[in-house]
Amino acid sequence: MLFNTPAFEQLVDALRRLPGVGKRSAERLALHLLSAPGEEALSLSEAIVEARRRITRCSQCCNLTDRDPCAICAHPGRDHGLICVVEHPSGAMAIEKAGAYKGLYHVLHGALSPLEGIGPDELAIDALLRRISGTVREIIVATNATAEGEATALYLSRVIGQRFGTAVTRIAHGVPMGSGLEYADDATLAHALEGRKQL
Ligand SMILES: [Zn+2]
Repeated sequence: MLFNTPAFEQLVDALRRLPGVGKRSAERLALHLLSAPGEEALSLSEAIVEARRRITRCSQCCNLTDRDPCAICAHPGRDHGLICVVEHPSGAMAIEKAGAYKGLYHVLHGALSPLEGIGPDELAIDALLRRISGTVREIIVATNATAEGEATALYLSRVIGQRFGTAVTRIAHGVPMGSGLEYADDATLAHALEGRKQL
């Protein structure tokens, strides 16, 4: 019997660590992978290994990229005086898809959360501070509309205001409270960016 075998449990545990996957879905996915033709599961595992090998963090904006600097940081047509700060690559992807923003990004890879032991050192905040120079006019904080996202926005505005005096703005709250940027539609995101306010 398959259930309770260590190999099956290990696969289910690995799948459960993926975002949005509960125990039932993990079991269903594991059963699918094990009963599908061998090459299907193999090509999935190879695609994961290959993507992990090729894709790294951009040394400037910390977004995920297959070249360094990434296509957005290297693009001469982007506005290099604007930096939009997001928690995760999915946030940058959502704003990029909305199509209204022409500046650069910075991906923190999380938000401040004292309860989970996530402080400034656990996020790509130093990398952001290193990018701020005289040519940067404005930092737009587009962290999520959660307690952690708000705390991160306040922290950034304090540190950046004290050290550099660069303008720090926060996107407007068209973005639903408690959710990530990737769940907002394109028009809402464009409005949220346009209606940003000084922090
Ligand atoms: Zn980049």
